[in-house]
Amino acid sequence: MRLLLLAPPGAGKGTQGARLAAKFGVRHIAAGDLLRAEAQADTPAGREIAACQARGDLVPDQIVLDVLTLAVVEAAARGGYILDGFPRTLPQAIAAAEIGGRLGVTLHAAIYLYAPEAVLTRRLLDRASQGGRADDRADVIRHRLQVFADTTGPLVPYYKERGILVAVDADQPPDSVTADIQARLSGLQPA
Ligand code: ADP
Repeated sequence: MRLLLLAPPGAGKGTQGARLAAKFGVRHIAAGDLLRAEAQADTPAGREIAACQARGDLVPDQIVLDVLTLAVVEAAARGGYILDGFPRTLPQAIAAAEIGGRLGVTLHAAIYLYAPEAVLTRRLLDRASQGGRADDRADVIRHRLQVFADTTGPLVPYYKERGILVAVDADQPPDSVTADIQARLSGLQPA
């Protein structure tokens, strides 16, 4: 199974990604987590990643591809993946499709988790109050949501045109979101 989770900050793609990976027995590739790990390295790329993440800006595409490509290629060879947060720009989507083409694999679905902005903001501020992440700050949250709308939003029509978009209401309890995703996937034709 090869899936992409496309979702704004706070929609629950990390939670759903982990569940889907367990269900299908494939690797959960969380772009933000892999980039946060790489940001610990005292290298030019590590410092750039750390700075982008702290501001809530996207990390440059080339760095993202350098960090993620090997994981995607390896997981493809082992039965698939749940991509969580990659691709999230049009150039990344085109690069990912090109890598897939070379490997002879395509995505089965791009799952778009949507929720009202007020709900997303509240969830992220709740997470912040429980320790959260360094980028769970009101001003940075606002910016992350804007970056999603401007830069990642265009991937919704991109995957819709390719016939693999599955839109799921994420403004529900996590178990209901999981159930909706699974119901939609069970009716799926491989792309
Ligand atoms: P969220 O999407 O909820 O903000 P993530 O952990 O997925 O959380 O991403 C956190 C940060 O990591 C983003 O704000 C961005 O700086 C960086 N990042 C993650 N995935 C990508 C990507 N595919 N391209 C560029 N930057 C990314």
